[in-house]
Amino acid sequence: MYKDIATPRRTKEILERYGFSFKKSLGQNFLIDANILRKIVDVADISPDTGAIEIGPGIGALTEQLARRAKKVVAFEIDGRLLPILADTLSAYDNVRIFHQDVLKADLHAVIAEELADVSDRMVVANLPYYVTTPIIMKLLTERLPIRGMVVMLQKEVADRLAAKPGTKDYGSLTIAVQYYTEAEVVMTVPRTVFMPQPNVDSAVIRLVKRQHPPVVVDDEGVFFQVVRASFAQRRKTLFNNLTNNLPGGKENKEKIERVLVALGIDPRRRGETLDIAEFASLSNALAPLFG
Ligand code: SAM
Repeated sequence: MYKDIATPRRTKEILERYGFSFKKSLGQNFLIDANILRKIVDVADISPDTGAIEIGPGIGALTEQLARRAKKVVAFEIDGRLLPILADTLSAYDNVRIFHQDVLKADLHAVIAEELADVSDRMVVANLPYYVTTPIIMKLLTERLPIRGMVVMLQKEVADRLAAKPGTKDYGSLTIAVQYYTEAEVVMTVPRTVFMPQPNVDSAVIRLVKRQHPPVVVDDEGVFFQVVRASFAQRRKTLFNNLTNNLPGGKENKEKIERVLVALGIDPRRRGETLDIAEFASLSNALAPLFG
């Protein structure tokens, strides 16, 4: 067995050897607890048939745990200073491919087709850079990638939003998007003490398993997400005010919007955060002829 990278001593030794200084702007908080990493790999159900896709390998702490269990690991790292370090720390593994790239700009379909065509299972596993958690998750969800799902570490506060229930302060358009595409579960919370340097917030690991079919029937996904975003635009306003103020053409269609709400039995004075995903689906289906 190889020595784990994710110990305080080994991490410090690697960083000193390369004179590496953390860039806060890139969300560089490296994990220094190998047991937590192994739990993440367990929760992701990584097997010898799995192609793992990692975002932000850092110095390879999670990458090596994935490489030991997966058929292949493909990782995207934005910081070029980490490439020679990764070549060294991961030199024992011949099933790892690192791309020096911003994952938000990566053509993930093309990379999967080239690098992971011969695996029967694909999973995203990552300790995400916290400054771009939401755009990364939205990209992975909306691009309809051929993956089973994702297990990602993120700020606890964002994890709570992803798995929130209607009527709570955490419930919002991100919750609805995640629920539409996946089944979400917070699997563990992680204290800030297991990172180097320590972030200012606690973290959580969330598992998102892609649904075969959305949980609701939506006639026009573009309108659905537009209605959802508009409904949460100003959380203290009523649903009716948010829809009329924030849907394009909403002001001119005030009466029609009110009629639609009343016909659906949705009180226009309710707040967006009280609607469940089924209500958003019927509302957007009824509004689609006006806004589609
Ligand atoms: N996986 C390592 C670990 O668990 O110790 C490092 C995780 S650290 C929280 C986030 C990593 O993502 C850093 O290595 C950072 O350079 C990288 N990163 C930041 N923004 C990125 C982006 N847009 N695309 C790819 N990698 C990014």
